[in-house]
Amino acid sequence: MRLYEYEAKKLFSKFGIPISSGEVVETAEQARGFAEKLGKPVVLKAQILSGGRGKAGGVKFASSPQEAKKKADELLSTKIKGFPVNRILVDEKLNIEREFYLGITLDRVNYKIVVLVCSEGGVEIEEVAKRSPDKIKRISVDVDQSFYPFMGNSLAGFMGAKGDSLKNVGKIAVSLFKLFKACDAKLVEINPLILTQDGKYVAADARMSIDDDALFRHPELAEMGIEKRHEEGEMTDREKQAREWGIPYLDLDGDIGMFPGGAGFGIMGNDFIHYYGGKPANFMDSGGGPTPERLAKMLILLDENPNVKAIFGARFGGISRCDDFAKGVVMFLKEHGLSKPMVLRMTGNVWQEGVRIFREEQEAHPEIFKNIEIHGIETPIEDISKRAVELAKKA
Ligand code: GDP
Ligand code: MN
Repeated sequence: MRLYEYEAKKLFSKFGIPISSGEVVETAEQARGFAEKLGKPVVLKAQILSGGRGKAGGVKFASSPQEAKKKADELLSTKIKGFPVNRILVDEKLNIEREFYLGITLDRVNYKIVVLVCSEGGVEIEEVAKRSPDKIKRISVDVDQSFYPFMGNSLAGFMGAKGDSLKNVGKIAVSLFKLFKACDAKLVEINPLILTQDGKYVAADARMSIDDDALFRHPELAEMGIEKRHEEGEMTDREKQAREWGIPYLDLDGDIGMFPGGAGFGIMGNDFIHYYGGKPANFMDSGGGPTPERLAKMLILLDENPNVKAIFGARFGGISRCDDFAKGVVMFLKEHGLSKPMVLRMTGNVWQEGVRIFREEQEAHPEIFKNIEIHGIETPIEDISKRAVELAKKA
């Protein structure tokens, strides 16, 4: 579960990580009120579950209460990165001397917790990692090991901090580590960690993601007003629809609609499509038995997606039967039709019967089935994948 910046900052503050004084508001008038109370220039930040707000116009500055009101109005009336803005964090504006990155995440390959700093902050860490990896320093810690002050100090030293600053930054790293463990976090990130012109280190941004499976261990979060939520804010309308229908589904950014049978086949199909130079528009699993109703819903998700140019279907009958599958798909095609070309392969449990049903229907109703290519086990999955890529390119 991702936290909003203002929620993560509440936790930061509880763990002694310096943040600037701020307030969350829901109206422009409240933004004006806080700016007036503060009596200093402010930064107004859209509270959405996404980073990169700065570039997208979600971070604005105001030097007077009136201006704060105007900027808040602007933020509340637009979408930032596709998200409506319901809340704004109004913070005292810091005067920046330098920006750094400090983050903690899990290294799933080596089963470690990784604490990393970057001498360049405020930009995407992945970008820096590619461009200038020498600007990043990592310390890996076993999951049952502590993160000691000397480790924090070594990271602080890498950032160029000296004397008291070195200890202060070291402490921030240690506190962030405690927070990471205490909350069962998957990620905590300060980007940027700011060195102000008067020599203080302050977390100007806060990003946190908590392991959903550990949420039951953290009633204290709910007490702080951090409620368990489905990440609706992050889901596309189609993903929400699929969830309502009980179909595991994710939108991806390609143009090949994936209509697989089973999650494993779905993942493999996505790999094949990539291998042959295509891009899947989605990931999908049938999420249980392929009843005709469910098959219809899966196909509707693909057919109504304007990004989908061609459909890749690969059914493997394990426990379920390919003839049932074929009947369900045929029923859908006869009732709704399909506006996209589809290449469909059936293997496994009674695949011959599935293919036979399709071929028979194809002969009887050539107009309905003209955009559909049916294959059985004789056609390798590689060829089906290549064909789907071809169909998408042609469309
Ligand atoms: P993100 O783009 O979603 O990561 O939002 P951030 O909270 O990181 O803000 C984006 C950028 O705005 C930061 O990298 C800073 O350069 C700038 N910024 C944020 N807060 C302040 C502030 O208090 N003072 C100043 N001068 N710049 C700020
Ligand atoms: Mn940031």
